[in-house]
Amino acid sequence: MNDCLFCKIVKGDIPSSKVFEDDKVFAFKDIAPAAPVHVLIIPKEHILCGVDEVTAETADIVAHIFTVIPKLAKELGLENGYRVVSNVGADAGQTVRHIHFHIIGGAELGAMA
Ligand code: 5GP
Ligand code: ZN
Repeated sequence: MNDCLFCKIVKGDIPSSKVFEDDKVFAFKDIAPAAPVHVLIIPKEHILCGVDEVTAETADIVAHIFTVIPKLAKELGLENGYRVVSNVGADAGQTVRHIHFHIIGGAELGAMA
């Protein structure tokens, strides 16, 4: 059985505030926003646990996500800029091992760690 939180969100078993979906990706509002706009974008299929697993064979989905991000940012009104973050592993505080990219903006963001 797949116990992954984000797989459950994609399936609708756990409710979320969807902001975008196509056949390959799903984007939804983060439950604990770090800024006025905080959206997570994930592949619908659990093919990668994190950026640490991306290979030439699996890079297509990451490329697709990065074509969706700028369109989504425009729709979300982030003309003034935004940050794209992907935490990897314990030191970065990754809590969900289903690859995801945070889109954060809507205010001037602090300096990165
Ligand atoms: P990570 O820390 O792994 O980079 O990011 C996981 C993100 O998922 C966190 O920002 C956290 O707030 C968000 N999150 C955790 N559980 C839920 C949930 O049930 N629903 C939504 N929408 N976001 C969640
Ligand atoms: Zn998953």
